[in-house]
Amino acid sequence: MSVSIVGVIGAGQMGAGVAQVAAQAGVSVLLNDVSEEFVQRGLQTVGRNLDRMTERGRFKPEERDRIMRRVSGTANLADLKDTDFVIEAVVEQEDAKIELFQKLDKVCPAHVIFASNTSSISITRMGARTSRADRFIGMHFMNPVPAMRLVEIIRGLATSQETFEATRTLAERLGKNTMTAEDFPGFIVNRILLPMINEGIYTLYEGVGGVTDIDTAMKLGTNQPMGPLELADLIGLDTCLAIMEVMHRVFGDDKYRPCPLLKKYVDAGYLGRKAARGFYTYDKQGNPIAPVTHGR
Ligand code: NAD
Repeated sequence: MSVSIVGVIGAGQMGAGVAQVAAQAGVSVLLNDVSEEFVQRGLQTVGRNLDRMTERGRFKPEERDRIMRRVSGTANLADLKDTDFVIEAVVEQEDAKIELFQKLDKVCPAHVIFASNTSSISITRMGARTSRADRFIGMHFMNPVPAMRLVEIIRGLATSQETFEATRTLAERLGKNTMTAEDFPGFIVNRILLPMINEGIYTLYEGVGGVTDIDTAMKLGTNQPMGPLELADLIGLDTCLAIMEVMHRVFGDDKYRPCPLLKKYVDAGYLGRKAARGFYTYDKQGNPIAPVTHGR
């Protein structure tokens, strides 16, 4: 199956990143979000990232413009009818994703593959709510998409071999390495990563250390490029909470209990970098200004 137009739904940090890497690989992209304003914000994110890469000499200006021209936007889901492959990157909420896929099922021809960038939600269950469970798959990009090399591919119980191969081929065309995970909550990457982040938040909650102590400990002590609290802010605290809640609910095991402090931050709207405030505060360019202690 050859893919010439990819539909990307959700123009937030992940959707904009997926749109960018697809356009860089020569694939045309139609980027969708719930409103024209959000679509424009996603297109601006792609443009800003390409500008930065051009300033660093990665692209010539004319090459940058050629890449940007491959990305168009629409707030009208019906426009996705002409795409060959759809990658969904909307909020990490099962009901929202299923509602979207059911609408999309009516819009897109039967051969179009639906890939979800979900971090934790069952591919099997979402696929079963469409008329194309065999052409439904998990395609889990990492954040930030242009910089991270991995795409985790998750087959639902009904996903066909053709769908799997088309997805792997597309991921490789976008310059990514792939691995495969079985369809259980959090798959492999987040099953291991999110409990560590959640434990980092418990460490803060219980006063074992301050924000800087915890992040410095894990960066210098275990050679991770980012500490768990910085990383939580990058992922988005709402997304971290949603992933922990899926693992806690589906496995029914309290080892996945989300930290009450994580819930409190999400309740306050302190969602991390995208809200300019999480465990750190951020300036307009997204650079951390200062650590925050228990929301004060
Ligand atoms: P985000 O909050 O930055 O963006 C989500 C976007 O989806 C928003 O622009 C929102 O307006 C849009 N949206 C919501 N409902 C929609 C709908 N019905 N139709 C079209 N657009 C809709 O979130 P994000 O961090 O980009 O995460 C998106 C998905 O990617 C989630 O499933 C998340 O779990 C997954 N993911 C996130 C990360 C990460 O580090 N943030 C990494 C891998 C995967």
